[in-house]
Amino acid sequence: MKSSDLFSRAKTLMPGGVSSPVRAIKPYPFYVGRAAGSHLTTVDGEDLIDCCLGYGPLILGHAHPTIREAIERQLEKGWLYGTPTPLELDLAGVITGDHPAVDMVRFVSSGSEATMAAIRLARGYTGKQDIIKIEGGFHGAHDAVLVKAGSGATTLGVPDSAGVLADLVAHTRQAPYNDTEALEALLAKNDDVAAFILEPVMGNVGPVLPDDGYLADVREITAAHDVLLILDEVITGYRAGIGGAEVLYDVKPDLATFGKIIGGGLPIGAFGGRREIMELVAPAGPVYQAGTFSGNPASLAAGYAALRYLHEHPEIYRRLDEATRAIGEAAADAGKGTFVRMGSLFKHFFRSEPPRDYREVKECDTEAFSRFWKAMLEAGVFLPPSQFETNFLSAAHTDQDIEQIADAYGSCLFA
Ligand code: PLP
Repeated sequence: MKSSDLFSRAKTLMPGGVSSPVRAIKPYPFYVGRAAGSHLTTVDGEDLIDCCLGYGPLILGHAHPTIREAIERQLEKGWLYGTPTPLELDLAGVITGDHPAVDMVRFVSSGSEATMAAIRLARGYTGKQDIIKIEGGFHGAHDAVLVKAGSGATTLGVPDSAGVLADLVAHTRQAPYNDTEALEALLAKNDDVAAFILEPVMGNVGPVLPDDGYLADVREITAAHDVLLILDEVITGYRAGIGGAEVLYDVKPDLATFGKIIGGGLPIGAFGGRREIMELVAPAGPVYQAGTFSGNPASLAAGYAALRYLHEHPEIYRRLDEATRAIGEAAADAGKGTFVRMGSLFKHFFRSEPPRDYREVKECDTEAFSRFWKAMLEAGVFLPPSQFETNFLSAAHTDQDIEQIADAYGSCLFA
């Protein structure tokens, strides 16, 4: 069946025809039959260079042999036990070893679960009720953070979801990114703030990069107000480099959340932080958290293989950085919009200056983005279908892929 026919049927079976809103490309999404390395093959027989990569987890590309072997080895031994496994110690050991601020971790099944649990833990530890998040920051699709959220929520123009209790949202305050004065002002008039949660680099409307010193200032301000700092490293974890944004920007959070790359492409999430705080998590302490699929062996095996591979091949990060620089150079002369990148994250914003916060991102010309996106797809490059989602590169992108992406960028921006 072709994509158009599949989508017609999907709409009768699933709301909007999809399992996650951003996938509902108009007039219908393409359906993928298989993927390998940096390429997707659609059921319609098209071959596309993938710069979406499952929205970030696949830093080594699709069906990477090392990860596939790890999953296959695990499948032979079963894939769900409902008991502790030695694999948990392996992955927890790597994550805590790479992140100086993370003494202990708890595995969950998604990034959303990780941020939900980290916020509960912050409230349990501090005894305070409110949280502050960044305007346009995305931390998953749970109630406390679905307020002025980025990602699909911004794309669809519904920053606040129906069904979220006003009473609950009243405990979620907003501060613009890169604005320490606004954060100070919020904290000066509110002594009931348990935590400030932020993506160190805004990935779900970006990348929007931190101003020099912003994250260090945030650390200082939150500490001065006895507010826990939660770094949401679901995107930046192992993408900003080994040790994520914590190490890259030298900022020590109280809690950190992870997902995406740490599962090697299978579902996962984790939250971690200072031992004294983490020891409040059940059964060690009174903050409840649990999950049937938490720490499932297949995800742990895939994630451990991915992180080991990254440790063994640190040159990947330099190569990816050079690749996005090359794409940026192709975009530079177009005179339309501005190119922003950080390592393997990149994006062309249809506005004259790199945005510094959500309000500036929202000024982008989304119609120009749509035309550009369609032209890129016709040129054989799949970018995430929104001005408000970051593009990703993987180690599987060959020099030829990168040249093709750069050429397509150049010609589609000039079109
Ligand atoms: N936090 C950030 C920074 C994310 O980018 C995402 C997902 O894109 C999440 C949390 C939620 O993760 P998941 O989709 O695995 O629930």
